[in-house]
Amino acid sequence: MRSTSDERTFSMDIGFIGLGNMGAPMAANLAAAGHNVTGFDVAGATAEGVALAASGAEAAAGRDVVITMLPDGPILRRVAAEILPAMKPGATLVDCSTVDVESARAVAEQAAAAGIGFVDAPVSGGIGGAQGGTLTFMAGGSDAAFAKAAPLFDIMGQKAVHCGPAGAGQAAKICNNMILGISMIGVCEAFALAEKLNLDAQKMFDVVSTSSGSCWSVNTYCPAPGVGPKSPADNDYKPGFAAELMLKDLRLAQAAAAASEADTPLGAHAARLYETFVETEGGRGKDFSAMLPRLAARGHGD
Ligand code: NAD
Repeated sequence: MRSTSDERTFSMDIGFIGLGNMGAPMAANLAAAGHNVTGFDVAGATAEGVALAASGAEAAAGRDVVITMLPDGPILRRVAAEILPAMKPGATLVDCSTVDVESARAVAEQAAAAGIGFVDAPVSGGIGGAQGGTLTFMAGGSDAAFAKAAPLFDIMGQKAVHCGPAGAGQAAKICNNMILGISMIGVCEAFALAEKLNLDAQKMFDVVSTSSGSCWSVNTYCPAPGVGPKSPADNDYKPGFAAELMLKDLRLAQAAAAASEADTPLGAHAARLYETFVETEGGRGKDFSAMLPRLAARGHGD
């Protein structure tokens, strides 16, 4: 057990910008662990145990580490341009938002020019993981910057993988979520087909979850109601992980594929399907596994 003086030694001054669904519980967990956390959100959001600043620059000034948890790359770039000049040299900026690889690399360069470390560290685990401190962090940046952020990842999450230089965390995130989007559509197609073949969904689960078709989308997050562990399908497809967030990640994957000349035909198709679902078929606000009722309601070739 650590002494009080040890705890003082390990306590950091942290700025936290973006106190939304994910950021607020992450900031609260850092404060609960004994860190001195100052937050800012344009919408005036708050978090338990977190002092509020009047601007992003004020939240960032003089802190050892500044964490951002923002909606997208353009907003990250704007916030970085505001806070980097306010940060103290030698401090570290940790961006946990999901953004495009180019934005992560651009902010890393600006940070380096200002003598500030940078880690891109998008997360998986969703709002439940943020609340429970069980997120997985996928991190990109120098060894020194990662080492500075690692004790904070330990508080906010259960696992942090240092994937490589700046941008590598975002690359890992969009590759993982491209697999997830494609696999969820595949699983939903199979359950919709099973229903039309009069194959009971529970029997389908019993076979597939222990056969070569098993995957996270079947075993842990089954899109068929009443089957497998509890999932958003059992709660009228309330998210969970919203379809529009999956669309965001699939679009980021397609932008990265275009920029890097990668051939991702199923990723492209998944992005188009979620785009139609979210923008014209009422999928916005539903869990991404609601692709199952969407498919089940349609006929062959619709
Ligand atoms: P959110 O919209 O709830 O939170 C974003 C917050 O940023 C909002 O409160 C907003 O007011 C604030 N903000 C916007 N511009 C700002 C600015 N200039 N300065 C300060 N604050 C500003 O979104 P979220 O669900 O918390 O997601 C945050 C990030 O995490 C996104 O990049 C998302 O893709 C990613 N993510 C979300 C989930 C999830 O399940 N929600 C899972 C994994 C990753």
